[in-house]
Amino acid sequence: MPRQAYVNGRYLPHGQATVHIEDRGFQFADGIYEVVPVRQGTLIDEEPHLDRLERSLGELRIAMPMRRRAIKLILRELIRRNDLHDGFVYMQVTRGVAPRDHKFPAHSTPTLVMTTRRMKPHREAVLRDGVSVITAPDIRWGRCDIKSVALLPNVLVKQAAAEAGAYEAWQVDDEGRVTEGSSSNAWIVTGDNKAVTRDATHAILNGITRLSLLKVIEAEGYSFEERPFTVAEAKTAREAFLTSSSSFVMPVTRIDDAPVGDGRSGKLTAALRKHYMDYMTEQGAGG
Ligand code: PMP
Repeated sequence: MPRQAYVNGRYLPHGQATVHIEDRGFQFADGIYEVVPVRQGTLIDEEPHLDRLERSLGELRIAMPMRRRAIKLILRELIRRNDLHDGFVYMQVTRGVAPRDHKFPAHSTPTLVMTTRRMKPHREAVLRDGVSVITAPDIRWGRCDIKSVALLPNVLVKQAAAEAGAYEAWQVDDEGRVTEGSSSNAWIVTGDNKAVTRDATHAILNGITRLSLLKVIEAEGYSFEERPFTVAEAKTAREAFLTSSSSFVMPVTRIDDAPVGDGRSGKLTAALRKHYMDYMTEQGAGG
């Protein structure tokens, strides 16, 4: 079955799915996106993702392209048409098509695009050995809480990570504190076994995986703290990991040139990953 995409009311073969050259997403990055994981055919945390989509749009004063119920129908139809079991749906909404002019057009209809992508399960070796991250200055704007498609700083820093043979780059603010990864949230585990991740201000994207993991941590009786941590603290932490809709809970075992802990995936990280995977499975079971 050829891959299908959804563009402004139509399902099209992926290669023929296009938007106009004067779409403001293309001209100004005037739009937002969401990535919703799909596990065994089930959308994970659909409501929180749609809440964040609506919030991002609200912050940019872009109208919802349609009612939430209609978006949910399209999400399901696209999963069906692509026979998607494990992967994710990418959704993008822009302010729409208008002659190029920075200020908002008087009238425009939001563009809605959705695509799907399959994802292979993470390899056991990666989960055992963990991944490495580099650190780099955070050069982004002051509203990183909006899931904007303006991702150039994230692109550049992820490229730097790839060129250094690392999986991710942790961005660092002017005070030497980690904000977040280029496409994931950053976590450490302290000596007294507390999971620490930066508090959700305008400096980071409030990851849905981050939010769900905080709930899982609480439900399982582990302790956590939402506060910034420095690169120095991260390098001497007991464990480190990152979270995102595609990495779930991923152990981080090297930061720049320093191993984290004993350089192997940590105990709490492994436990949290397992609880998070169970949490996703329960959603498939209607839980
Ligand atoms: N921060 C940034 C900058 C991201 O791009 C992402 C992934 N979209 C995340 C954090 C993690 O968010 P989520 O758990 O919702 O995928």
